[in-house]
Amino acid sequence: MEKQILATKKLWRKPLDAEKIKLPEAQIYIIKDRCKGCGYCIQFCPKEVLEESEEINARGVHPPKVKDPSKCALCGFCTAICPDLAIYVVEKTSEKKEEEKNERKE
Ligand code: SF4
Ligand code: SF4
Repeated sequence: MEKQILATKKLWRKPLDAEKIKLPEAQIYIIKDRCKGCGYCIQFCPKEVLEESEEINARGVHPPKVKDPSKCALCGFCTAICPDLAIYVVEKTSEKKEEEKNERKE
């Protein structure tokens, strides 16, 4: 049963106009020291955006890290499912994009 749930949880659908429509970029915030390492956000993210990090937080567990932010669909499921309110996702603002561009230049 568990296998069946895991097999169906990923978003397999792709819109026909996926190549034409530009999706908003996501900014994912992880409050590392709040995380209790349950792994729900990693396991249930439909786009496989997150993975376990190597680091150990204040609670002695491995918090998640962002593997591929470009895949994030801003669905908010990770935020909804996190028992400790340790992760949230917002649309990246143009200021943030500019900031990142400048950081890359330096
Ligand atoms: S908002 Fe959705 S797609 Fe993005 S990281 Fe969270 S669960 Fe994954
Ligand atoms: S769901 Fe929340 S507490 Fe669980 S691993 Fe993800 S960030 Fe940590």
